Amino acid sequence: MLKGIGASDGYGIGKVMLIVEQSLSYTPREIADVDAELERFRGAVDAFCDNTMEQADAIRKSTGEKEAEILMGHIAIIRDPFMGGEIENLIKAHQCAEAAVEQICKMFIDMFSATGDDLTMQRAADVRDIRDGLLGILLGVQEVKISDAPAGTVLVCRELTPSMTAGINKENILGIITETGSQTSHSAILARALEIPAVLSVPGAVSALSSGELVIVDGNRGEVITAPDEAALDEYGAKREAFIRERRELENLRGKKTESADGTEYELFCNIGTPKDATKAVEADGEGVGLFRTEFLFMDRNALPTEDEQFEAYKQASLILKGKPLIIRTLDIGGDKEIPYLGLAKEENPFMGFRAIRYCLKNRDMFKSQIKAILRASAFGDIRIMFPLITAVEELRAGKELVEEAKSDLKASGIAYDENIAVGVMTETAASGVIADLLAKEADFFSIGTNDLTGYTMAADRGNSDVAYLYSPFQPSVLRMIKRIIECGRAEGIPVGMCGEAAANPKMIPLLMSFGLTEFSVSAPSVLKVRKNIAKWTKAEADAVAEKVMAMTTEAEVTAYLETVV
Ligand code: PEP
Ligand code: MG
Repeated sequence: MLKGIGASDGYGIGKVMLIVEQSLSYTPREIADVDAELERFRGAVDAFCDNTMEQADAIRKSTGEKEAEILMGHIAIIRDPFMGGEIENLIKAHQCAEAAVEQICKMFIDMFSATGDDLTMQRAADVRDIRDGLLGILLGVQEVKISDAPAGTVLVCRELTPSMTAGINKENILGIITETGSQTSHSAILARALEIPAVLSVPGAVSALSSGELVIVDGNRGEVITAPDEAALDEYGAKREAFIRERRELENLRGKKTESADGTEYELFCNIGTPKDATKAVEADGEGVGLFRTEFLFMDRNALPTEDEQFEAYKQASLILKGKPLIIRTLDIGGDKEIPYLGLAKEENPFMGFRAIRYCLKNRDMFKSQIKAILRASAFGDIRIMFPLITAVEELRAGKELVEEAKSDLKASGIAYDENIAVGVMTETAASGVIADLLAKEADFFSIGTNDLTGYTMAADRGNSDVAYLYSPFQPSVLRMIKRIIECGRAEGIPVGMCGEAAANPKMIPLLMSFGLTEFSVSAPSVLKVRKNIAKWTKAEADAVAEKVMAMTTEAEVTAYLETVV
């Protein structure tokens, strides 16, 4: 078995087609006729752009506009006067077109690769694709025709370039294996868009596999099973069928309401980490965003983002959501989330230390600038504010006071915001569960963060494998916490959602429905699955399950029982 990164879900069983890169070697030479060489280079660029345009048209039809844009980006890069100009300068200095293209592309590839940033490194892959395309044209090398691949093919290559992907006929290609790439690389995005199972970053795949050999691609686990026996073929054949059936069933739920079997409606939101993720939330058919983790705006940089930068990010997310709700969680740093430039002191016990709302309330200027940015963005959509790690009513009051102060500042400057913006509490500490009755009187909504609530209730660090046996939202203590928070919220008439991972757990869903949760916020890929799971239950059925579970004594009993009903 070969291991890699599962970058596109699903199972493919087929015969390997090795795509070995054509030799693009040449002997660099000095050019006497500069004008003719410039002509040759410009002709190659025109041909490259024509080919790319054709490929983009093909991919637009087979896959979609977004995927075609990746290829159109290649045209923009090579037509960019800077890059083209630099290549032409080398030709004017009597280098041959091949050498000039190679040298300038190398400069860009090195520059982009050095950043260590996933997205910028992606640009390096684009430039490599452009370089190979141009060299291929200049050298008259024939491209491998992936469009000719027979039915039942698993493509194996060092790197799957966007231009290669354009030739893919998804009826024939059942799997993709590459030696490079990550979850966010173009090849991964394209494989997911084409719904072809893909395992990327498999070291030595090209030499380990040979054309015609039968393999199984497990895109869920990131595994390639070589020389499969009958048993493996049967097992994966069944998995593949079940996967395809489920995908089809889920697609039928797109655009539908999220409701129980007896018609109670729920809100089904997404968790996001960047404004761009809002697009994924919309594409996944999320009905809004139940948790925007704003830490990401503060990470991977050397100084705090300004109020304006934050405003732009929140506004962008809100505009993408086109009026759908957007719950923005204020900065939740500390614990496992570090921001080096803030110079937070090392603590004995960071999870119980100076973090999240505690840090923000002591750094009022920073906190106020985030709140002002959120308020300003609230003029552009349905935005709500949520405070993390609340453990005492005073913290909620202090946060709300700051919101009022920020509103007065904005009003004085004549800047628009939503005067009635909702301010909610992320109930994720044991204390917030215990005083949920008190918090519910002063909060506009609750959202249960089970990731932390489980840890703080069980006094079990979510990252410590030695205590992992305790870290379960199905512990009777955690279930009692969840039930209590929902009941306290309902008693005060405020909505209660859940944005922790447990919200997407099929075993948890009937319990949450019975307790009276009104909103589920989950990762984008889980949206349709959660809609399907909610639709399975009537209130009476969910109540019967919850009644049994809440009478149980141990986590093992609870999970064993739930296993039998979902
Ligand atoms: C949680 O604690 O449940 C949660 C959703 O927040 P995070 O995972 O960001 O701590
Ligand atoms: Mg949390």
